[in-house]
Amino acid sequence: MTHILPGATIGILGGGQLARMLALAGARLGLKTHIYSPVADDPAFDVCAAQTRAEFLDEAALRAFAQSVDVITYEFENVPARTAEVLEELRPVRPNPKILALTQDRLVEKQFIRRIGATTADFFDVNDLPSFTKAVETLGYPSILKTRRFGYDGKGQSKVTQHADLSKIFNDLGTTCCILEKFVPFSKEVSVIATRSIDGAFSAYDLCENLHENHILKTTHVPARIKQETAQKAFQIAEDIANATNYVGVFAVEMFIVSKQQEEIVIVNEIAPRVHNSGHWTLDGATTSQFEQHMRAVAGWPLGSTLRLGSNITMNNLIGSEADDWLKIMEEKGAMLHLYGKKETRPGRKMGHYTKIAP
Ligand code: AMP
Repeated sequence: MTHILPGATIGILGGGQLARMLALAGARLGLKTHIYSPVADDPAFDVCAAQTRAEFLDEAALRAFAQSVDVITYEFENVPARTAEVLEELRPVRPNPKILALTQDRLVEKQFIRRIGATTADFFDVNDLPSFTKAVETLGYPSILKTRRFGYDGKGQSKVTQHADLSKIFNDLGTTCCILEKFVPFSKEVSVIATRSIDGAFSAYDLCENLHENHILKTTHVPARIKQETAQKAFQIAEDIANATNYVGVFAVEMFIVSKQQEEIVIVNEIAPRVHNSGHWTLDGATTSQFEQHMRAVAGWPLGSTLRLGSNITMNNLIGSEADDWLKIMEEKGAMLHLYGKKETRPGRKMGHYTKIAP
């Protein structure tokens, strides 16, 4: 049987705000969740039926976790390969962990995106100072040096401008395993939040337009202010990615839009094999939230409607001390506030968000 029944338990690797919102969405559909995370005070632990606090490579804990759940999913892409391997022997893991190997390494990811016929920024594999210098000479300025693995929210990357000290930039990155990417002069950053069900049905929300501050998502505006035909191209790329990887669940594809005269060119930046921050507006602004959609897909159930519930929707992240304004935001007419229950406020930490919907 590929689908589970209400009352069954979905195991979630990771216990951050994404896992918390998945657990809440699951509860609405009568699903229990079991959160597995090594971080003792993770916010998802507050809202789940069962919990395991253990390291991701603790094989005994992983086996006990797998045996206590019906199906397993994850809220982050850096799940170690061995963790997925141990779990897969015991229970279905959705989306299938092949997507992890693909998205954990920027080089492998970009090669895959090109293989399915989509465009990425020009890039070079960089392993040492000579290959870095050669790549800079070929790609020109500005360009961006990125670690192949474990980069997020702008961490593990460095902009290379003219007259920069290449040796210092390379040594400061902390690893020799990286890529150099040509800087994309984008007019907009957008993301597709899409879902593929267990029987191959594909569904996407309206395209999201994203604004970053200090490399962290600040605001998402829906629908993205781009041409309909450009949005169609973006959706097609997402569908091609989902089919090529036999994906099950929600995923995001982050893209740059480059405007050239009348034309809008879609350039894929990266794939996130999980629910995504730019899809948080769906909690209040769509018939089915991305979290419910993911739980439906992982459970083997039919996907819900992605209908948008307003003409214009804006989601604002509350980062670090911005969340101290929660009372003020709560009093704002039409602001729908979500707080993640994190015990400690730190600069750059995502503490909550609020959504506003124009009717
Ligand atoms: P990433 O870690 O690849 O998601 O990059 C974080 C942010 O850095 C992106 O959302 C962009 O705002 C910016 N960025 C990354 N790569 C490029 C690029 N090749 N050209 C221009 N901006 C970029």
